[in-house]
Amino acid sequence: MRARSLPVSVPDCIFCRIVKREAPASIVYEDETTLAFLDIRPMITGHTLVIPKSHAAYLEDLSKDSSGPILETARKVAAALRRSGLPCEAVNLWLANGKAAGQEVFHVHFHVLPRFGGDGFGIRAGRGYGRTPERTELDGTAEKIRRALEDQ
Ligand code: AMP
Ligand code: ZN
Repeated sequence: MRARSLPVSVPDCIFCRIVKREAPASIVYEDETTLAFLDIRPMITGHTLVIPKSHAAYLEDLSKDSSGPILETARKVAAALRRSGLPCEAVNLWLANGKAAGQEVFHVHFHVLPRFGGDGFGIRAGRGYGRTPERTELDGTAEKIRRALEDQ
């Protein structure tokens, strides 16, 4: 039988402490590698966070094996929210990856956000965006990202 490895944890990380049951949480789902629990300051009722049990600060720190499972758990939670009886006609997934993107807890997490008509949510584009750029500009931007992907 294969020995179960314990998740990598960081002592002062609040989400690692939740994984280890050292901090309280309203848990909605757990499996071997992921955990889902309610956000302590919900943006909307049912606002759920999905995390890998092993500590990783950023999305790109996750291994191939641990990035898939958090999306699968977010999928399950999204489906459950629609069936839960909570107001939920649709769902947004949100992941803040880095401080400038709004990340406050540096343990990777998806926000799973129930949505319904008239809920007042919105995501604003940054200054100067929201226009349709020339194709040459889009191609130039795509080229930069393609090159960076080749380096991985
Ligand atoms: P982010 O800004 O994407 O890093 O989001 C961090 C989220 O974690 C915020 O929505 C917080 O309300 C939430 N949060 C922080 N501490 C806790 C906690 N102890 N239990 C549940 N959610 C938390
Ligand atoms: Zn952590």
